[in-house]
Amino acid sequence: MNIFAISGLINGIVATTFGLLVISKNLKERSNQVYFLMTLSLAVWSFGYWQWQITTDYSLALFWVRLLSVGSLFIPVFFLHWCTLLIGKNKVNNVVIILSYILIGFTLFFVNSPLFIAHLEHESIFPLWPIAGRVYDIYFSYQYFGVIVFAMYFLFRSYFSEHNLQKRGQILYIIIGSLLGFGGGLTNFPLWFDIQILPYGNFLVAAFPFFLGYSVLRYKLFNAKTIATEILVFFISIILLVDATLSVSIIEAILKTSVFAVVSIFGYLLIRSVYREVAQREKIETLAKNLEAANERLRELDKQKTEFISFATHQLRAPLTAIKGYASLLDEGELGRLPPEAGKAVNRIYESASTMVNVVEDYLNVSRIELGTMKYNFQPLDMKTMVEEVIAELRPNIAKSRLDFDYKPAGEGPWTVSADPDKMKQVIGNIIDNSVKYTPKGFVHVTLERVHETDGSIPVKFTVSDSGIGIAPEVMPKLFQKFSRAEGANKQNIHGTGLGLFIVKDIVNAHKGKVWAESAGEGQGSKFIVELPVTSYVQHS
Ligand code: ADP
Repeated sequence: MNIFAISGLINGIVATTFGLLVISKNLKERSNQVYFLMTLSLAVWSFGYWQWQITTDYSLALFWVRLLSVGSLFIPVFFLHWCTLLIGKNKVNNVVIILSYILIGFTLFFVNSPLFIAHLEHESIFPLWPIAGRVYDIYFSYQYFGVIVFAMYFLFRSYFSEHNLQKRGQILYIIIGSLLGFGGGLTNFPLWFDIQILPYGNFLVAAFPFFLGYSVLRYKLFNAKTIATEILVFFISIILLVDATLSVSIIEAILKTSVFAVVSIFGYLLIRSVYREVAQREKIETLAKNLEAANERLRELDKQKTEFISFATHQLRAPLTAIKGYASLLDEGELGRLPPEAGKAVNRIYESASTMVNVVEDYLNVSRIELGTMKYNFQPLDMKTMVEEVIAELRPNIAKSRLDFDYKPAGEGPWTVSADPDKMKQVIGNIIDNSVKYTPKGFVHVTLERVHETDGSIPVKFTVSDSGIGIAPEVMPKLFQKFSRAEGANKQNIHGTGLGLFIVKDIVNAHKGKVWAESAGEGQGSKFIVELPVTSYVQHS
């Protein structure tokens, strides 16, 4: 087999492969269908070329030359048609395309006559080279100097007027592919007209389906993995095919061609599956990117929401504090005695305003935590005195609850930790207040101790145990999360926000301490423990 026969075979295989790949991408798309027809014509031309080159029989060679000419008849017009579909509809293009199809129809009548191919004769190194008839001259001028030049003009014009970068890139690939392909293909013609140039450019024809297919399948098909698979399949198929053509008997030829066919089909399926895998991965990558963008947007929205809550609660705090203050003055008779009914109402106003102030305070704290604007003023703090102070403030509530309440510091201390007094007050107050709220009857015991840890540290441990509603195991992991409230919590205490423990946890973390809860389950009471480290600086002060 000479190198020209090999070039025909390679062009045929590349054209068939790309035709199948593009059409399998989307069978229903018109441009893909026309691309497929274009590669089909190219394959007919290329395989015909290959067969013509390897035969020594005159009439067989004439048959193949005629067949390859039919293939080549269609290539330019399919090319223009495809470019028009891909780049954009155009009236002038449509006229040229229709005219071209009509002319091909006419030319087809002459394919079998000497007007198309006069005869075959020895030309240069080729023993059976065709000599063009009159119709061939017309066909050649129209298709190659008419349609192709027109298509190239259309491509260049579209390239320069296109603003979309992706589309521009696509047109550029088509231009490169067609310049290489048609340029290479043109080297076949000089000999037809007795000009002594050999068709070495024929090898370049494979670039035509390659670049054009690439412009359609770009990014999806052309990553390292798919290219490696394609090259592998391509080479195995070529070797098998060449081997089949060298068969000495019919049986051998049939066998080897069958092996070639089976391997090609499986190779094609393999390329498809690799292609699918790549496509899937790319899809996941795009999804991940979209998700990231959505996440970013959500974070932004969340920040805006927090800022809004911060703003709104700031606005609420001042009037609420005024309401609470005046209600307190009225309640205590500072502004004169009130009739008993009015006194009760004022008391209610005071209670509600207090609850509201606490809720607003909780929201403000949460927004500070989320915006990272919570400020701490650390100083040496005696925990024993602090717990006593908080209990004193909560006394009226504790008394109202009629619970068995006691506070026992165990041991001698020292109880000094490095802490922000206001924040620590909030932590202790919140935990004791919760135990009182969530214990319908029984006890609430508060203890303070220094415990020896295995790592040698002796933190201050503050514990509040109660005989209240307890905590179900499934609630436990979410207990310190924002807005987390156990189902039973509403029954027991309607006014909760589910923010208290979230704030507690954040404050304790800022103090490098630990906070956790223990409970044997619902109805079994609970225990809340806070451990604060005693820094050496504090111990010596
Ligand atoms: P709130 O009390 O406003 O609902 P918290 O964040 O202080 O919010 O508490 C969150 C939830 O933890 C409560 O709704 C309740 O379900 C549970 N909880 C807190 N303390 C106790 C306790 N001592 N006993 C039982 N459940 C508790």
